[in-house]
Amino acid sequence: HNLKVHFPVKKGIFQRTQGFVRAVDDVSFEITRGETFGLVGESGCGKSTTGRAVLNLIKPTSGQVWFGREDLATISPPQMREKRKDMQMVFQDPYASLNPRFTIEQILEEPLKAHQIGDSGQRQRMIADMMDVCGLNRSYLKRYAHEFSGGQRQRICIARALILKPQLIVADEPVSALDVSIQSQILNLLQDIQEEFGLTYLFISHDLAVVKHLCNRLGVMYLGRMAELGTAEKIYAKPLHPYTQSLLSAIPAADPRRKKERILLRGEVPSPSNPPAGCAFVTRCPKAEAICKEVRPTMIQLEEDHGVACHLYT
Ligand code: SF4
Ligand code: MG
Repeated sequence: HNLKVHFPVKKGIFQRTQGFVRAVDDVSFEITRGETFGLVGESGCGKSTTGRAVLNLIKPTSGQVWFGREDLATISPPQMREKRKDMQMVFQDPYASLNPRFTIEQILEEPLKAHQIGDSGQRQRMIADMMDVCGLNRSYLKRYAHEFSGGQRQRICIARALILKPQLIVADEPVSALDVSIQSQILNLLQDIQEEFGLTYLFISHDLAVVKHLCNRLGVMYLGRMAELGTAEKIYAKPLHPYTQSLLSAIPAADPRRKKERILLRGEVPSPSNPPAGCAFVTRCPKAEAICKEVRPTMIQLEEDHGVACHLYT
């Protein structure tokens, strides 16, 4: 709710604050229990920072993150530690996020130990079960992460996230580092475990084609702001924001006879430490008008479950 995450930019030998990077700049959205909410946009648009703020791994500059009925900023550290079990993260890079000195068994046991779950025997059984669920051979338990391929490592990361039986998983580009042939296997696994464990996903991706068949609802971010928000069905059928339109025009049509006009964006994404005064997209928007330079558009609800922040619709 009105989430802002601004990082100070420090310069010089005295490390004086020279300004702020507005990584996330007044973003609001809701994720419904059991759904997959896709957060999409180019790299640097603030989607990962949003994901981390949702998990309370970054303190927002302002705004709130509600998890159920609780404002995460107001609960005590012991309560937050308890909440951690309910909210887990799967990262983009399964190479960097696994400790190379730990065996797979140790990696999976660590979160259970940290939350003092079960005795040694019970933990062994939980780990073995989770290996089965994630399609990992139990004989891997005594081996190290570097002995495995990217796809297997991402399965290990998913098993580690799942072992605490969370409600919410934030998956930050979970297949972007993997070969295309492996991507769909991991996406299928994520869908299978969602059904089996009733999980809710915040699925972060730069690739609208990847999230198309996965997400119930979508938020499209640009330069720290939410450009468009709605059901995946509505956004893919009728994108409203010129930025979403350009992103979708880059996805090849399923039917090659249906000609698609590719909308190419000119120019660079402006720096989030010096964003345009009006609409964040104004420097690249093919439909920009005079007002766009002056006034920041707010999110307007054009239909139930479809909103857009663009002056073309006001
Ligand atoms: Fe383009 Fe203006 Fe809409 Fe921004 S508000 S997306 S610049 S038309
Ligand atoms: Mg990122």
